[in-house]
Amino acid sequence: MIIILKPDIDPSGPEVKRILDTLHYYQGVVTRLSGVTGTERKVVEIYVIGDTSGIPDEEIQNLPGVEKVVRVSKKYRLIGRHREDMESLGFIYNGLHFDQNAFYIFAGLCAVDTPEHVEMMFAALKEAGIYTSRMGAYKPRTNPYSFQGHGRKCLPWVFELAGKYGIKCIAMEVTRESHIEEIFEELERAGRPTGVMLQIGTRNAQNFELLKAVGSQKEFPVLYKRGMGITIEESLNACEYIASEGNRNIIYCLRGVKTNLGEPHRNLVDFAHVPVIKSLTRLPVCIDPTHSVGRRNTAPDGIQEIFHAAAQGVIAGANMVLVEFHPRPEVALCDGPQALKLEELPHFIEDMHIVREAYLQRKDLAHRYAFQSLAPKAANVL
Ligand code: PEP
Ligand code: MN
Repeated sequence: MIIILKPDIDPSGPEVKRILDTLHYYQGVVTRLSGVTGTERKVVEIYVIGDTSGIPDEEIQNLPGVEKVVRVSKKYRLIGRHREDMESLGFIYNGLHFDQNAFYIFAGLCAVDTPEHVEMMFAALKEAGIYTSRMGAYKPRTNPYSFQGHGRKCLPWVFELAGKYGIKCIAMEVTRESHIEEIFEELERAGRPTGVMLQIGTRNAQNFELLKAVGSQKEFPVLYKRGMGITIEESLNACEYIASEGNRNIIYCLRGVKTNLGEPHRNLVDFAHVPVIKSLTRLPVCIDPTHSVGRRNTAPDGIQEIFHAAAQGVIAGANMVLVEFHPRPEVALCDGPQALKLEELPHFIEDMHIVREAYLQRKDLAHRYAFQSLAPKAANVL
């Protein structure tokens, strides 16, 4: 059961105390109070865990301060939408507001290689007015002899350069629990010039110990990538692992699924699932066109396949695009063949804004038509 409080209710005020006292009257019931940054306002919710079957909805609904009582389905208790009218689960991190209405482009290197390349990337982002990036320091590679990432030793200069160019958040994959601590310590040491979003890569999508580790800290938000060979249900259960440990600042990322049917692309693009994830959960949704497409081909219309795939996700309402660039893809130590070139960044950003604008227009259109279809019914009632 989730109890949504009316706006501006003080979580430590008398209304909340009375609601909690009433709930605790029922045996075996545990409550958790949490603040959720909704699309238009901050929402305070009370999660009621345990046997809630004996609690009458009406009694709670009638208490002062209660806006709505929602019975949650067994599935995805914390991340699930449960009802159409629930607000999206958002959060603010380092001044950036993420929710199901937001839109960010996280562009950067697959793997950090040299300070020169990282600086060129950040400088290009700044020039383009983008303050969100991606940088892989810990790389999970298929081949043990491939470059595994610079790891901790690159963090000091990556963070310093991020600060120099005003980058507010870097998506960075972690492959083991100790990486979280390393990132935390190096950020502190650097004086917190930037922020980090911990990325769970597709290969760790069901590494439950790692999911629990990112879930049990609240310092960093988590970018969860769908496993390349698992169902939506399995991947959402994995996100629920993160949330159940206490961290609900999660973004769900679609990145394509592995099947020969996707050839010649590296993975089969699954961006038609953007609205599906938004309906099933209250999480913001990211798309990764780079790892889906996996190559830098330009179609006969002059538009790159990666741009086309990204557009598919953005026009479906994606809230974030994770995309790889490199100043010199031919010398990149990881995923060079799929990296866009730095000089293509302004084109990519402009293209994404065209599609985002089209999505917003489609949303307005849908609201207009929904309103029109309601109007005659209202007239009949009168
Ligand atoms: C990445 O983003 O660099 C990456 C390795 O992605 P994925 O886990 O989706 O393969
Ligand atoms: Mn990559």
